[in-house]
Amino acid sequence: MNNIFKYLLFFYCNFSLNALQASPSPFLVGEKKAVCVDFEVAEYKITYDIQKKLALATSKIIFHMPEEGYPLFDVVSKPVETRLNDQLVFQNEVDLPHKASKMRLIDKKIKPGQHSLVVQTIIKDNIFFDKTSVNNQFSYLDMQDRSFLEKYLPTNLEFDRYKIQITVSVTGTTTPHSVFSNGIVKKKPNNHFYISYPQYFTSSSLYFHIAPTLAHNVKQFSFKSMNGKKVLVTIYSKKGTGFLTSFFKMRVMGWFFARGKLNKLEQKFGPWPHPTLTIFAKNSLRGGMEYAGAVESSHSALEHELLHNYFGRSIMPMNGSAGWIDEAIASWYDWILVIERNIKTLKIKSFGKSLTEQQIQDVYLKNLSEDSFLSHHEFRRSTDRKAYKQGRYLLAYLGYLMKKKSNGKKVMRDFLRYFYEKRKFSMIKDTDLQADLEEYSGLNFSEEFNKYVYNQSQ
Ligand SMILES: [Zn+2]
Repeated sequence: MNNIFKYLLFFYCNFSLNALQASPSPFLVGEKKAVCVDFEVAEYKITYDIQKKLALATSKIIFHMPEEGYPLFDVVSKPVETRLNDQLVFQNEVDLPHKASKMRLIDKKIKPGQHSLVVQTIIKDNIFFDKTSVNNQFSYLDMQDRSFLEKYLPTNLEFDRYKIQITVSVTGTTTPHSVFSNGIVKKKPNNHFYISYPQYFTSSSLYFHIAPTLAHNVKQFSFKSMNGKKVLVTIYSKKGTGFLTSFFKMRVMGWFFARGKLNKLEQKFGPWPHPTLTIFAKNSLRGGMEYAGAVESSHSALEHELLHNYFGRSIMPMNGSAGWIDEAIASWYDWILVIERNIKTLKIKSFGKSLTEQQIQDVYLKNLSEDSFLSHHEFRRSTDRKAYKQGRYLLAYLGYLMKKKSNGKKVMRDFLRYFYEKRKFSMIKDTDLQADLEEYSGLNFSEEFNKYVYNQSQ
């Protein structure tokens, strides 16, 4: 353990105590009590060996064990070697309760307190070697199980925030490489990099992409946030491929476009939440993914992914009960004007006659299914499709109810600002959203949450 590491450990121990309250409950695997631990610090060392075409990661994790039992962690790629408190141990993939996902259970019972874990793995996902270079992007998919950081490096479930540092070396080549990330990157000679990430990061926050320097066009500018802070924005895209040429992408995704989106979001929800912003401008026409202070995005999805930097990666889902919330909010944001326009069109079709309450409610209710709940088991990591449609119609319906009952004084848009201000940089569960909606509106939404959100059978 080096000195910086010791210092970080001391500094961040207090911070991670919060994680204990958020942690899912222990469960039995045979006779063994499997326990979710609390990561305090992780130091990842990645060596990309160009000659061997091999990416070896040594991950050193200090964690807190909350009670006696067998500790859980996760990485998809089968570890080459696992050491717990300097001793070689076995670990196995196990099913989490309700088969919600899988994690790795270390076959050694340990006492409560601080422990160290060193795991060696080979990074196999989204990695491309050629004779002189490597391209490895830690790209996540929230609609697929085990597709956050665990796809690349050992980590924990999303409830856990911990301090992360990555040391990278690319050996066996002189081709210069660049790292794009949402941490602070220190570039050292001979393709060595050191990256330090903010302390509020979880397994779904971190962004990392290493590639040969010449593979991308890069544009940087400073965005002046409404709170006066300067945010460094980096936009990069693959050189000259695909339908949208690199030049076009850089112009369109470039400073005037991204700056406009940032201004708009700041006006609606407040200052940009993260220290920087990195945008990987993709070739595709649709789709993208959000990180904390980073997005990979097509042109059309940019605003949606940037919005997730407020809802999803600043306010963060604690577990499977909350995975749908940020998608519901982002989808409501994308679609609310269309939903409201549909109601207006209905009015025109009825020759300008006012619609009855029932007719208006039906527009929302026919899009809400009573046997398809938005919440999932706490161990579930992936978001499902219904988070979008069922989620946006639920928010639109609740917005309609609160507007009607307050004579236009309380609206969903204002609630979202209130909710963001109250919950930013914290972890939320489904019940927190209900509590905040009720606090803001003075209404009781138990009926709607019981019908559409909470899965009583779990
Ligand atoms: Zn989304």
